[in-house]
Amino acid sequence: MPAQLVEEIAKVCGSTALTFNMHACSTLWPGVLADDLDMTPEQRAEHDRHKQVHFDRVVKQGAVYAQPFSEGSSAAAGKAPFGTTAEKVDGGWVLNGKKIFASLAGAADYYGVLCTESRPNLSMRDTLYMAVPGDAPGLTITGDWDPLGMRGTVSRTLLFKDVFVADDATMMPRGVYFQAASRWPHMFTTLSPTYMGIAIAAYEFTVRYLRGEIEGMPPVKRRMYPTKQIAVAEMWVKLEQTRSLFLRMLEDAKVDPPKDARLRAFASQYTVMENANELCRLAIRTCGGQSMLKSLPIERLYRDSRCGSLMLPWTAELCVDRLGRECLYEPGERDEEIN
Ligand SMILES: Cc1cc2nc3c(=O)[nH]c(=O)nc-3n(C[C@H](O)[C@H](O)[C@H](O)COP(=O)(O)OP(=O)(O)OC[C@H]3O[C@@H](n4cnc5c(N)ncnc54)[C@H](O)[C@@H]3O)c2cc1C
Repeated sequence: MPAQLVEEIAKVCGSTALTFNMHACSTLWPGVLADDLDMTPEQRAEHDRHKQVHFDRVVKQGAVYAQPFSEGSSAAAGKAPFGTTAEKVDGGWVLNGKKIFASLAGAADYYGVLCTESRPNLSMRDTLYMAVPGDAPGLTITGDWDPLGMRGTVSRTLLFKDVFVADDATMMPRGVYFQAASRWPHMFTTLSPTYMGIAIAAYEFTVRYLRGEIEGMPPVKRRMYPTKQIAVAEMWVKLEQTRSLFLRMLEDAKVDPPKDARLRAFASQYTVMENANELCRLAIRTCGGQSMLKSLPIERLYRDSRCGSLMLPWTAELCVDRLGRECLYEPGERDEEIN
């Protein structure tokens, strides 16, 4: 995953970084990540054929892939099967359902939809990952996108009504997404480079502002005040703590990571998302009134940074939730009931 590239983009535009990440993950998940997963020889051959179709579109035709999985239910948090279903028919699949917060809505050539194979009892084990063409009959884009931050992602709602896709639309064979989600947990950390970039941008803006080096502003220096120096020192410490954990998490990323790496991934996601917003808050407080004018980027960084902790499946809250439980319990352990 080009984490450092996303980080650099985010220093300039969080929305572009976030949407580039969605697109990049559409090749990361079926690519190097799926290479590590168990498949039968038949599944591997089918996957290689389908992967070629998707990768050719991206590389040769410049196709952009989005990654809508949120539905407004517990599914995006990984606690229930996706309500969007795919029914097997001759030569392909028929999709029905709804996705909310679909970044790149209306701009993507293909939507990489997580859905559940239609059977009497829906199961998370039957999650499918399907590329739906943006112009497929039965696919409509509705609603508006008028959020606090990340306004450029245009994350509108997708409705699927009997949408037919061919067999080669599957981006992972049956059952393999479920395996990925449990064996390759770092696949859910890929939103954090965007917010790491925002955190760095907030710090760098503050230094330039206090040195009187912001383009278009009078060259007034504010760096000589001890309170500013203390605030910048605090920001640097927080930034370096965040970056160290983030870089360590990137090194850890692999299939079947040991428990400490898995816990560190939650800690890293939590820290990046929460500290990005905290650094933007400190930047505005330290630079002062003129810094939050819309002609300058810091107010946008501040609004964008607020969104990081809300991203499923690893919201800041859910990271704490998982850490609290997994620090104290080994898999399968339960407490005796107290009567
Ligand atoms: C800028 C932006 C871009 C986005 N782009 C995309 C995209 O491209 N594709 C996509 O699929 N989604 C996208 N999302 C959606 C995002 O990942 C979340 O799905 C969405 O923010 C969840 O909103 P919700 O109110 O439905 O959450 P809810 O599911 O209602 O959760 C609300 C909060 O409750 C907590 N919670 C949820 N479930 C549980 C649980 N089981 N146990 C305990 N606590 C829980 C969580 O902390 C969560 O923050 C985007 C969101 C934003 C802000």
